[in-house]
This record gives sequence, C-alpha cells and structure tokens, in this order.
Amino acid sequence: MPSKLQTSPSSVFVVLTAALCLWGVVTSDAADPVLNVRVYDYADVEPNLVRKAQRVAAEVLAKAGVTTAWAQCRTAVSEVHDASCRRPADALVLQMRLHNETQRKALQQGPRDFGYAAASATGLGVVAGVFFDRAKTLSENHRRDLGTVLGHLVAHELGHLLLGANSHARDGLMAAVWRGDHLQRAAMGGLRFDESQGMAMQRQIGLRAVESERTAVTLAAASDRAVDWPPCLRPGD
Ligand SMILES: [Zn+2]
Repeated sequence: MPSKLQTSPSSVFVVLTAALCLWGVVTSDAADPVLNVRVYDYADVEPNLVRKAQRVAAEVLAKAGVTTAWAQCRTAVSEVHDASCRRPADALVLQMRLHNETQRKALQQGPRDFGYAAASATGLGVVAGVFFDRAKTLSENHRRDLGTVLGHLVAHELGHLLLGANSHARDGLMAAVWRGDHLQRAAMGGLRFDESQGMAMQRQIGLRAVESERTAVTLAAASDRAVDWPPCLRPGD
C-alpha cells in the first residue's frame, strides 16, 4: 500500500494509505518459518545505511514474532547479488525496493506518498517499495536518524504484505498517519506492531510456509509482472 507524506505549514505528517488491489488466501501451517526479504536498492543508498535500515526493520518484525533473513539483490556498489537472489521466489520471499526520485515520479505517486505494497495476480503480497528521497526528507524535517526512519518505513510496508489490504491501524507502526510523536517513538524503539498484528503476521507466514513450494512458479511470474509497476501500486486514498 502506498504510503504518504503530507506537509502542512506547521508540521510534517506521514500518511500511509493502502492500495493493495488483490489479496488471496493460502492454507495450512509450518513450524518456525523464516521470512526472506530481498532488497533492491535503486536509489544508490550508502550500503551502511541500508544495513542499518534492515537491522531496524528486522528488530521491529522480531518484536512481533517474525523472523527475517535479508539478501542484497541490488546495491549502490554493484549488481552483485547474494546467491539466494537467483533462486525462484516462493511464498516466503518478499521484495523490498528502495526507489530513487525518477522511479517515484514514473510511478506517478502523489505528493505525499513515500511507499507502497502490492499483491500479485494470485493475491499474495510480494512486492513493496519505499521512496528514498522522501524518507530522507522526512528524517531531515524531524531531525531523526535516517536509518531508523527508513527501517520503520520498510517494516510498515512489509507489514502490509503480510497483513493484507486495509491493514492500517489507528496507531502504532501501521498507522496511516505518522506525526512527530510516531517518529519519536521510532527513535526510542517503541513504534511497533501491536499484538494482534503480530499474531496475524505469524499466522500468515505459517500459511505461506506450506504454500511456498506450490506457489514458487506463480510468484516468480508475479515478480516479473511487478517490475512493470501495475496500477494497483498507485495511491488508494
Ligand atoms: Zn501503509
């Protein structure tokens, strides 16, 4: 779901909106599955900053009972990929894209958007993105650490992939609007998924674990299509 940044004369708000257009159901469960996140940096972000954001996002997800493994599939330094990037995607593989300004404009995101999450044609959340230039502006406006802000934005969008459409909450990490106090909580490690969201994500990952073999081919195709950024990635509010 697209996420948004809204500027007012007196303060800066972050508004996150949902635009997941398709969502499906998978079945069954599995023990202690790990969620694999493949990171594609198109914004030439300094590698240490990407690692910081990943660490922050992984910690936020871990607090919600979600174990993640991260792979660098495109970096600012080179196109060198972790070996796992070449394997066919399955239901436990999510793509996180860090977009540059040109890509953001090409995606025709609104002036407040700072990210999105999208489902495949089969209805499974597979691809999410954050617009790096807007994350940077947000951190600067609030004088907050960029890696921390970026990590929480990444966690929010990944949360959408697991929680489905219309998964914004009134408060916390999945709030549709972030104000200064949200970013303050993020800095203190207190901006997180709530208990019910954590349970829902764990349940979803368990279902995906059983589904992963069966959906591998389908999701690989879905990832190819997602590169074209279908209309469901546009703002939904
Ligand atoms: Zn959102």
